[in-house]
Parts: sequence; C-alpha cells; structure tokens
Amino acid sequence: MEVDLGANFAEVNGRIEKAAAKSGRSARDIKMVAVTKTVELKRIKETVDRGLRILGENRVQEMLEKVPTLPGDVEWHMIGRLQRNKVKHIIGKVGLIQSLDRWSLAEEIQKRAQQNDTIVPVLVQLNLAGEDTKSGLAGNELLDFLTEAVRLDHISVGGLMTIAPFTDDPEEVRPVFREMRKLANEMQGTIPGVKLDYLSMGMTNDFEIAIEEGANMVRIGSALFGSRVIKGGI
Ligand SMILES: *Cc1c(COP(=O)(O)O)cnc(C)c1O
Repeated sequence: MEVDLGANFAEVNGRIEKAAAKSGRSARDIKMVAVTKTVELKRIKETVDRGLRILGENRVQEMLEKVPTLPGDVEWHMIGRLQRNKVKHIIGKVGLIQSLDRWSLAEEIQKRAQQNDTIVPVLVQLNLAGEDTKSGLAGNELLDFLTEAVRLDHISVGGLMTIAPFTDDPEEVRPVFREMRKLANEMQGTIPGVKLDYLSMGMTNDFEIAIEEGANMVRIGSALFGSRVIKGGI
C-alpha cells in the first residue's frame, strides 16, 4: 500500500501539538527526529522537502550511505547501539549521538573527537525498565556516569534518551518517562556543569505520553513512513 507521507506528517504534527498543549507547551518546543532506518532514499528526500531536517539512523553503515545523498543542512542523529570501532566514521557527520550507553564508548568518542578537534554532542541512554534486550544505563548509574562524563572535554552531554518497553497500552510506560524527567532534574541540581536540556523519549507507539511527561525530542519512524520490514529489530 502506498504510504501518504504528507498526510502522515500532518497527522503526527497534529498529535504532537495536542500532546504539547496538554503539558503547557507548543509543538515548536518539541523536536521531531524522523527515523529513516530501512526507508528508501526517495521517501527520505520527500520528507526533507517537507521541512523535516533531523533524521535518525541506528546503523552506521546505513547512515553513511545516506548522508552524501541528502542536503547538507540535514542533521543526522545516531540513535542505535554504537560499536566503538565505528565511532571514527561518524565524527563530523553526526549532529548528535543519542545512544551513549557505556563508559568505553564515551572514552572512544572523546578520543576521536579530540583527534578531529571537535566537540561531539551526545545524549546518555537510559534503560529504565531494565530490559535485557535494550542498552542503556540504569537510573542509579547515572550520577557517577555524568560526574565523570563532564570531565571529557570533547563530549558535550546535552540530555538523556530512553526507549520505553513496547506495550499495547502506552499508558503503562508513563512511569518510565516520568522517571527520566525526574532523574534529569535531580542531576541538574546535583552535578555542577551538567545541563540536560534534551529529553529524547517517545516513538510511534508512545510519543504522546512521552510529550505529556516532558519529552522535547521524539523519534518517529513508522507513523511517518509506514511499518518497517524488521531487519533485526532495533
Ligand atoms: C526505530 C527507532 C525509533 C522509531 O521507531 P517507530 O516505532 O517506528 O517510531 C525510535 N528510536 C529508536 C532508537 C529506534 O531504533
């Protein structure tokens, strides 16, 4: 079935607007990352033509293939589990690494960013529901991690990211989003120099709940592009 990107885009925007209003904000306060994994280039170009300028990919190879074919003002976000040996390939190409999930990766990003004389913006990924299948720090590891990470001068931690468990009723994961916001507030009050401006939470299944709970960055794939052929999941 042909997917109507324009209609999907309008619908998602409308839903973002409503959810934002519920939390006393406007849609302008929410950044939408269009998740383009497995999506063909033609569709991605259409999306960019419609004004979406932040694209998210969860595999380095796929991202690198797409980067040169799209306008230079597109901002690419790495949102998937990142192997250390791939970091060098994306430095300078990626606007934000949302999936900083372990210390060894932080050190590698620091090292490569330093070699490239740049500072790499990152979000720290949390696994608040403790799912084995997902990466990310537990909530109680965050304080130590951030305390160390602020010392890495070629990394700029700008916020937190999480992937909530998939459920038929997204209401069930509201506490996960609430917890992330609470943690962000606590950390900002506790660690000097830490500013967690971005809360990246919410995907197709649960973005409205996430926004109601304070998300200001949502990562939307299938609501825009239709459902994916699953290649190994997320
Ligand atoms: C695929 C993916 C998304 C988007 O998923 P949808 O449910 O299709 O909106 C968001 N975040 C991450 C990390 C992903 O891998």
